[in-house]
Amino acid sequence: MNDAREELPFDILFIGGGPANLAGAIHLMNLAGEKGIELEVGLIEKGDEIGSHALSGAILDPIALEELIPDYLAKGCPIEEPECRDEFYFLTRNRYFNVPFTPRYMHNEGCCVISLSKFTRWLAEMAESLGVNIFPGFSGTGVIYSSDNHRITGVATGDKGIDKNSHKKSTFEPGVDLTAKITVFGEGSRGSLIQEVDRKMGIFSDKMPQVFETAIKEVIELPDSNHFLSSDTTVMHTFGYPLGLHTKGGGFLYKMAKNRISLGLVVGLEYENPLMEPYRAFIQLKQHPLIAKIIEGGKVLQQGAKTLPAGGYYTMPSLAVDGALFVGDSASMLNTQRLKGIHTAMKSGMLAAETIIPALEEDDLTRRTLGKYESKVKQSWIHREHYAARNFSQALSKKGLLKFVHLGVQYFTQGKGVNDPLPIEADHTTLKEMGDEKATEVSVPMANDFDGELYVDKLTGVYLSGTQHVEDQPCHLIVQDMDLCSTRCYHEYRNPCTRFCPAQVYEMVEESPGVRRLKLNPANCLHCKTCEIKDPYNNITWTCPEGGGGPKYSIT
Ligand code: SF4
Repeated sequence: MNDAREELPFDILFIGGGPANLAGAIHLMNLAGEKGIELEVGLIEKGDEIGSHALSGAILDPIALEELIPDYLAKGCPIEEPECRDEFYFLTRNRYFNVPFTPRYMHNEGCCVISLSKFTRWLAEMAESLGVNIFPGFSGTGVIYSSDNHRITGVATGDKGIDKNSHKKSTFEPGVDLTAKITVFGEGSRGSLIQEVDRKMGIFSDKMPQVFETAIKEVIELPDSNHFLSSDTTVMHTFGYPLGLHTKGGGFLYKMAKNRISLGLVVGLEYENPLMEPYRAFIQLKQHPLIAKIIEGGKVLQQGAKTLPAGGYYTMPSLAVDGALFVGDSASMLNTQRLKGIHTAMKSGMLAAETIIPALEEDDLTRRTLGKYESKVKQSWIHREHYAARNFSQALSKKGLLKFVHLGVQYFTQGKGVNDPLPIEADHTTLKEMGDEKATEVSVPMANDFDGELYVDKLTGVYLSGTQHVEDQPCHLIVQDMDLCSTRCYHEYRNPCTRFCPAQVYEMVEESPGVRRLKLNPANCLHCKTCEIKDPYNNITWTCPEGGGGPKYSIT
């Protein structure tokens, strides 16, 4: 058994196979080709193939794609629905109202519906054809620094073949030290490595707290006879029920190819009620008369969940340090106001590529040169979009009708609003302790709500996400203090992890009367990161499991 770690050197290394890094790698190869520069470029992805961890609504504004690959349609870019004809609904428990006026920023003319999983697989084909070395099934588990600790010089991938007691199995393969002149971090929402960089280099230190939303989504196949398939509507958004006006979020329903729809619910993680269960709310959305009628006779083909960085402008980190750049959702580039982040992610990757080429030419890989990426973002439409929406997420977090007052003032003041900046509360601080009188409300079973086809429970959802992990490996969810779960957390919040996790990874088992223990089912994990974000004691750390594990999304 060879235990020695090898070093694999690259000129440029991209961490994560999402739209930001794939667009960045394609643009980089094109720019290098124009200048006659030869580059060794690597890209690693923790999923077992590109696209297997990619999940989004997803409406694509093609502005960055048109710039990157102008003939994208001729090159076979997978589009599910070429036109977005929007409808916007306010829902009460049993009724719905078509909202006649929607703000400009919510209009989707010129956009199209895609499957992010298919789209990223297609982008990866484009990147590989240009010479990018793509390594799926490799998780980055540590950042490599120069000997003086001032510069990032690459990323270490995790060992494979370690058992649950941290012993080497016969299948052991040591990880690899991937080194590079410049490393581009595009790990997606709540990246583990970017947090490690922050702890060392403080890239988020003078920013407002990172805040997130959890999205649960299904792709549902409808029968030929379904009335919605022949309707003009291709895009629907809802607000109100089941979240009400105190909790940020809403539903979406997009028409896809082959009689399919994409249906999802987004829940802002600054919610206060410890009994809130995003998965339950998603089922309630499906049962609402407006949605239930549309999906009648359908069958869930795939389900998944992920978090979205919702903070926007005031939460973006420093975008460059010596030896590294940060792009896409990792760098909070998603525009919550437009409910879109693929176009901003792609553009950020492309601007990173435009910074890398002159830095290589000048042979200066420090923040002095790489910091020009920040200026490029500031001069681009990414900045214009984000600056106009700089207080939007905070306004949506306001309770009841107050949110509309803030949104209205922001609408007429180009985003400035009542206060600028409006403060943001970190998601893990917002749960209200529950009084004993509410204890009986916990986890009313949903069993009667499921039919196994159109309405599926969490475990069936995990099955439909294709999620698999090597069972015999160290648990990738680190709960620092298990006693806290069965004592203080039970009394104060009734163990909200058992509800906010969409994959039933956390269960409280009563071993004897009054004696509870937290049981983990890490093999179910969808890698959404909700637990690490929302846990009120910061008691949970999500670490990267063995590469290749996790969901196997193909049409989400
Ligand atoms: Fe998401 Fe955490 Fe549950 Fe995994 S364990 S599915 S990261 S909430």
